[in-house]
Amino acid sequence: MKLKKSWINSANDAKSQFPLNNLPYGVFAMPDDDEAGAHCGVAIGDMILDLTLLEEEGVLVVSNEPVFDLPFWNEFIELGPDAWAALRTRLEDLLAEGGDDTVSGDADLKSRALIAQSAVEMQLPIVVTEYTDFYASRHHATNIGTMFRGAENALPPNWLHIPIGYNGRASSVVVSGSDVRRPWGQLKSPDQDSPEFLPCRRFDLELEMGAIVGTASDGPITVAEADENIFGYVLLNDWSARDIQAWEYQPLGPFQSKATATTISPWIVTKAALEPFRCMTPPREVPLLPHLQDVGPMLYDIDLTVTLAPEGKAATTITRTNYSALYYSAAQQLAHHTTSGCPMNVGDLLGSGTISGPTKPERGSLQELSWGGKEPLTLETGESRCFLEDGDTLTLYGTAQGDGYLIGFGECTGTLLPALKDPYKR
Ligand code: CA
Repeated sequence: MKLKKSWINSANDAKSQFPLNNLPYGVFAMPDDDEAGAHCGVAIGDMILDLTLLEEEGVLVVSNEPVFDLPFWNEFIELGPDAWAALRTRLEDLLAEGGDDTVSGDADLKSRALIAQSAVEMQLPIVVTEYTDFYASRHHATNIGTMFRGAENALPPNWLHIPIGYNGRASSVVVSGSDVRRPWGQLKSPDQDSPEFLPCRRFDLELEMGAIVGTASDGPITVAEADENIFGYVLLNDWSARDIQAWEYQPLGPFQSKATATTISPWIVTKAALEPFRCMTPPREVPLLPHLQDVGPMLYDIDLTVTLAPEGKAATTITRTNYSALYYSAAQQLAHHTTSGCPMNVGDLLGSGTISGPTKPERGSLQELSWGGKEPLTLETGESRCFLEDGDTLTLYGTAQGDGYLIGFGECTGTLLPALKDPYKR
């Protein structure tokens, strides 16, 4: 597919993350607005088209009742796939070169409905109803398993048969740009008899993508149905406290080590925008049971990078990998999630699990990049890192390369604040 041209010039730049082919959805506010003043919008070039305003003015009618009157996309998503397609068609028409001139031909409306991205603050695009995090990269699972359990037991025996995961906390999900505070927790090193309560010393990132459930289900659904039920994707950083994790991990799995924060990108890139970039999961090493088998290409060719910038200093790229490195697709994860009868709701967020490729520069966490703290990374500033230092800013990027255009997710960024001196001091 080639670039679709817009009358907004910045959207036609081959390096723009938001050409007409993308049209990702977000929620924005002017810096002095309260939350009630936030609007739903679509990114186009370096601008945002204000959909709440266009709905109020009658330019955009997607339902009998307003759906963009609240600063979340859930109400719209609940309208279902026909409404998703109709909105995309309408927006393409309003923003295309030579398309409907309702906005482009009305100087007053244009000046009120188009806002510079640089002038706004982004908010969470949806109310996250529930959050589940998976563990779907074979390379990541093998690396972590080797460090936590030894090379012989690296991959758990179930791993090649089911997309394993755990139920996380929706309350931990924050939008890109939110600061993250280094947590306290129980730490115990192997040479200690008993744990201590201390600030985390091994705070880490996990490079992931999140899938947003767009259609509710109540009972088992097939992989093909699960793919249809996904509305779109975001970048996701599952901040992880490795030393807290090491002590609490057995026998039940992650808990407080994963509950500090989960940062997502402000823009939801729809499944429709990613359609040209579909690709297959890797060859199966053992056959999956029939209900989890691949029924078509359900991963996407999305280049992913992570940069780390020490406070006040230049950023270094620490990871380059690709979403297609995963063993399981989000559709397979969602299908597996429903096998028990677990109801899924609009706004549920499914983390892919850390996306690590086969080679060292493709690893999606510092735990893997520094091999558990044994092999420090050298940054371009000359400093070294095994885990995150206070003041470090981490930024995730994701782009799919089309023919003369990009599909981007914007930034998924956060800065680590120092631990509180005394977390119980009121
Ligand atoms: Ca994770």
